[in-house]
Amino acid sequence: MKSNQELIKLTNKHVAKNYGRYPIGLVRGKGMVVWDASGKKYIDFVAGLAVDNLGHCPPSVVDAIRKQSGKLLHVSNLYHIEPQSQLAAELTRLTFANKFFFCNSGTEANEAAIKLARRWFYDKGQPKRFEIITMNDSFHGRTMASLSATAQKKIHVGFKPLLPGFKYVPFNDITALKKSVTKKTCAVLIEPIQGEGGVNPAQKTYLKTLRKICNEKGILLIFDEIQTGFGRTGPLFAYERYKIKPDIITLAKALGGGIAIGAMGSTNKIIQSFSPGTHGATFGGNPLACAASLASLKTLTKKGFLQKASSQGDYFVKQLHYLKENFSVIREVRGAGLMLAIELNQPGAKIVTACMKEGLLINCIQQNTIRFLPPLIITRKEIDLLIKTLSKIFTKIQQ
Ligand SMILES: *Cc1c(COP(=O)(O)O)cnc(C)c1O
Repeated sequence: MKSNQELIKLTNKHVAKNYGRYPIGLVRGKGMVVWDASGKKYIDFVAGLAVDNLGHCPPSVVDAIRKQSGKLLHVSNLYHIEPQSQLAAELTRLTFANKFFFCNSGTEANEAAIKLARRWFYDKGQPKRFEIITMNDSFHGRTMASLSATAQKKIHVGFKPLLPGFKYVPFNDITALKKSVTKKTCAVLIEPIQGEGGVNPAQKTYLKTLRKICNEKGILLIFDEIQTGFGRTGPLFAYERYKIKPDIITLAKALGGGIAIGAMGSTNKIIQSFSPGTHGATFGGNPLACAASLASLKTLTKKGFLQKASSQGDYFVKQLHYLKENFSVIREVRGAGLMLAIELNQPGAKIVTACMKEGLLINCIQQNTIRFLPPLIITRKEIDLLIKTLSKIFTKIQQ
């Protein structure tokens, strides 16, 4: 096996440099822990960016992959695929949606939602109703439609012209939203809690009013739950926190228990616009990814599992507030469930590096914000260790 240094050299020589990478190579994982090539152990508060909700290599998912891989890896969507149908049945049981389309990533799930919203109005004889309203600081992915939907300048640089038909409004601002609605508006696309944009929760009254406006004007409400889904914020999906239902939901990240899979779900009435030939993805809903996803969902929906994760989230956020009281470098504590963040009065990069030295992986977004997305199997022991380590680091900084 290669050392960290050898691995870094190999990456730098042959892999495109579109990611800023930390100077370690991760080679193994189990539960809350990953190991680098030198054998150093890290407690993981990144979890593959909200992918490994059951921790690393969850036994039930690994077992399902082993079994499925000896049976059938891939066949075309020209045929019926048992794990795909079963997964769709399970997702429709667990959500407001009646049917699902499967793809391989978050950005593809959003592309599917954008296409479905436009096609739905086209089928209704309103082809000029194609405009989608999205929120400042949103993140919807990196392909052309999803990045055009993403209202962050840094994501757009060098990729213009963007896809037309997107309008950006400030998040949590219902007046701005009302003003931007026109006869051309077909949908509003929103993350109930913005992830990459800084872990910014939507206000309850804002989403309630948004739902009302969409109902009144016949606008489709699309929730991007790619990051907030699968217990990340407490309930299985964040829309349950807000007690409103979107018309379309997009899912990915934790959906596959660590395997690449995305999905877009909607009601029968709307998703019928995905008629034969309108959309597709070669690998979408392949047997392996769907088997992994089914196994992951089985664990996530076990009695008491999400409640336990929620109570760890409550404990975690309390500890972060306690840190804030003691250290003026923390400006704000934000988030829900186990999707949490602290905004600092200075860049967070050196905090990430200091934590890594101490064997803890955390994530910095928007320069000043530290985001925590640990596996939902986290215990107080790991939370306490993180808080203790951060206290030590902040004490040094504030000296
Ligand atoms: C990660 C993410 C995406 C993009 O998912 P990919 O699988 O990287 O394409 C889209 N929306 C949200 C909210 C995300 O967090």
